[in-house]
Amino acid sequence: MKHPEKVDLGFFPTPIHKLSTLSKKYSYNLFIKRDDLTGLAFGGNKTRKLEYLIADALGKGARAVITEGAAQSNHARQTVAAARRFGLEPHLILFKPDPENYDGNLLLDMFFGAKIHWIERKKLYQERIKIMGVIRDCHGQDPYFIPMGGSNEIGLWGYIDAIDELITQTKLTGQKIDFIVFASSSGGTHAGMIIGKKLFELEAQIIGIEIDKHIYPDKSVQDHIKTIIRYAIEDFELPINISDQDITLIHGYNEAGYGVVTELEKNAIYTLAQEEGILLDPVYTGRAFGALLDLLDKGYFPQGSNILFWHTGGQPALFAYRNDLFTKHIPGKDNKNLV
Ligand SMILES: *Cc1c(COP(=O)(O)O)cnc(C)c1O
Repeated sequence: MKHPEKVDLGFFPTPIHKLSTLSKKYSYNLFIKRDDLTGLAFGGNKTRKLEYLIADALGKGARAVITEGAAQSNHARQTVAAARRFGLEPHLILFKPDPENYDGNLLLDMFFGAKIHWIERKKLYQERIKIMGVIRDCHGQDPYFIPMGGSNEIGLWGYIDAIDELITQTKLTGQKIDFIVFASSSGGTHAGMIIGKKLFELEAQIIGIEIDKHIYPDKSVQDHIKTIIRYAIEDFELPINISDQDITLIHGYNEAGYGVVTELEKNAIYTLAQEEGILLDPVYTGRAFGALLDLLDKGYFPQGSNILFWHTGGQPALFAYRNDLFTKHIPGKDNKNLV
């Protein structure tokens, strides 16, 4: 088995702690793993992937990196920060519309001096070729390309490590975990966790909540997860086999579409904030935690289960989504109207 190189970008291990109030309320043992505290430019799950992706870029002698995503991409924000840390020129291909005022992640991208190329999402492939060509003409070499969400056979290593880290932590405390629930979007986090589970014989079942409706134009997220796992097995000679049954992805919470805030996300954000003093984000963790609360209500998990919610970050987007999240009638147990 081979292992790719990595650089240091975050603070690990990230904490695990109990959600005491919610555990009582729901009669389950609920825990949270705080990958919102990885530390790079406000943290999030992309820090772990970027430790491998930036190492690969440096190993290939790159001078610039380029990645792509939505205007409020957390991955874009963390990529530009990571690139700056290692002296690489950060380029972003972001999907229009280009907002009048830069807020949330986009405001932060600007502080890092990201070179932003705004394009129509449906023209992504042609536009990317053109933009890469312009950068090549400038630098005399290709920029290092990082796919959406950093979800390829290199980036997923961040979550192979993360499973190893989780096992070490739970061995120390003796805490058993039966289920891991998290937001699955471009598939890299999920793919890494599945490989990690096989390699290190993690007992917990891994349950991804599907966030996007059509992230890839030509394939499902499951297909992408399978593909990058297969590449990782081949490239790094991993001694494992993966079948369809290893991938648990819950559909149905993504109906509103990517980045659309509904009562589910809003209720999840207000609930975790008011019961535990922890912030979720409006796009990923708000949706995934809302799904977890719904699954608890529906009796999806056996009584007495130990359930870990893996917080993947994203809170800077709260500010950009203020109009969707603000409400004069604050949900919650002891709140009257704000005004
Ligand atoms: C990117 C992201 C995810 C999803 O991770 P993938 O590896 O793309 O599936 C979840 N939560 C947050 C906050 C993210 O930024």
